[in-house]
Amino acid sequence: MRTPQMSEPGGAAGLPGSDHRRGGRVTLVGGGPGAVDLLTLRAWRALQSADVVVADRLGAVGVLDDLPATTDVVHVGKTSGNHPVPQEEINRILVARARAGAHVVRLKGGDPFLFGRGGEELIACREAGIEVEVVPGVTSAVSVPELAGIPVTHRGTAHGVHITSGHGGLDDAAVAVVRENTATLVILMGVSSLSTIAQQALRAGTDPATPVAIVENGSTPAQRVTRTRLDEAAAAAAAEGVAAPAVIVIGGVAADGLLGSVRDGRLAGAGV
Ligand code: SAH
Repeated sequence: MRTPQMSEPGGAAGLPGSDHRRGGRVTLVGGGPGAVDLLTLRAWRALQSADVVVADRLGAVGVLDDLPATTDVVHVGKTSGNHPVPQEEINRILVARARAGAHVVRLKGGDPFLFGRGGEELIACREAGIEVEVVPGVTSAVSVPELAGIPVTHRGTAHGVHITSGHGGLDDAAVAVVRENTATLVILMGVSSLSTIAQQALRAGTDPATPVAIVENGSTPAQRVTRTRLDEAAAAAAAEGVAAPAVIVIGGVAADGLLGSVRDGRLAGAGV
């Protein structure tokens, strides 16, 4: 995807070298779910003014192609066959590069503070005496369901949302949410535990017909939605070959057609 270059007179991008005069600093940037045009303007500006970008595998990685040629990009995310750089090492890189005078942008998927370990990185910088700023991002927990036509709350269907990590299954609070149907349950990092998750919810007495939607690769050309129900979710995911990254939504809002049809990852207007 080609992203237009922006001219920001007087903005950070227009003042090369200004960061060096006041010493290095770190900006934790939420990059949104993947599509470059879901980056915020503040995120874009921070990226354009960075000396160093420390990037993950998920999120708006396409923006890395649009950085000035002088920007140093450090990849710390997991790629197939490569282990991710441990968190302590990422913290060390952020601090070391900022100490050397660089404006370091830590580009993260979604929002930095939602399962992003952004808080840990912020603390590590502060403890090292490094100036650190956070740029909020469009979180996958809300935007990925949204791009598949699923509102995480909807008048008359769900008046709350509970976001949890599915890594290793659900905790008691999340199980209670689906069983009592008190809120929409949004699960990140849950694909490999989906059968455990479904069993936990069913054993707790959740209605087996509770709608489930699994949205893979939200906001990217590979976006795909699998609609199913709780007691069939694990089999449906296996049959479809569902893989991470995906957001799992459990609750009434995941029912097919709640808002009408969705085409090419965009909500179609009425009658389309
Ligand atoms: N901080 C991020 C979440 C990091 S945890 C945020 O706010 O979005 C990583 C998990 O996020 C993935 O395992 C997946 O569950 C979810 N995720 C991130 N990007 C996604 C995308 N484009 N499509 C589907 N799921 C995504």
